Amino acid sequence: MKNKILEEKIALFPGSFDPFTLGHIEIVQRGLNFFDKIVIGLGINSTKTTMFSVERREGWIRALFADEPRVRVERFVGLTTAFAHECGARFILRGLRNAPDFEYEKNIDLINKHLAPDVETVYLISSPETGAISSTLVREVIRFGGELKGLAPDLIIADIYQNNKEVNV
Ligand code: ADP
Repeated sequence: MKNKILEEKIALFPGSFDPFTLGHIEIVQRGLNFFDKIVIGLGINSTKTTMFSVERREGWIRALFADEPRVRVERFVGLTTAFAHECGARFILRGLRNAPDFEYEKNIDLINKHLAPDVETVYLISSPETGAISSTLVREVIRFGGELKGLAPDLIIADIYQNNKEVNV
């Protein structure tokens, strides 16, 4: 019991983060109120086409949390629960925006519990300010040249404006 109390609470926040948005930032910041460390797990799925290269997505996240030693970013391939074990994370952190998110997460949760009963998934309901933001929506705004302020972090917006060569549109 004593060890459990002293044990660091590490959470894995998995996603494709294509790109990282203000919604993702909010989940990490709120998660830091009760987790000791958060590993942002950049899931690599070779069958999924992304707008931004993994190097660029990873670099952005690293830069965003450069001053926060409790957050680190790692790439991973395969099962989220296996990677949680690898990181020593007893928690998976996810955000919930709406009912479709809930339905999707509920099924994944059941499978994850089957695969790793020792890993608990914790869900944070998004705030009204970020609840409508998704990476998909941000990519659409980028494709059609719309205003990104208020959707993505300034650092990412600046980089996209300066260098959009890697964008797969
Ligand atoms: P995935 O491809 O696994 O859905 P994403 O990169 O789209 O990964 O999102 C990672 C996590 O962040 C998911 O739990 C998702 O629900 C959550 N999330 C994304 N956008 C928001 C937001 N605006 N508010 C709260 N959670 C969010």
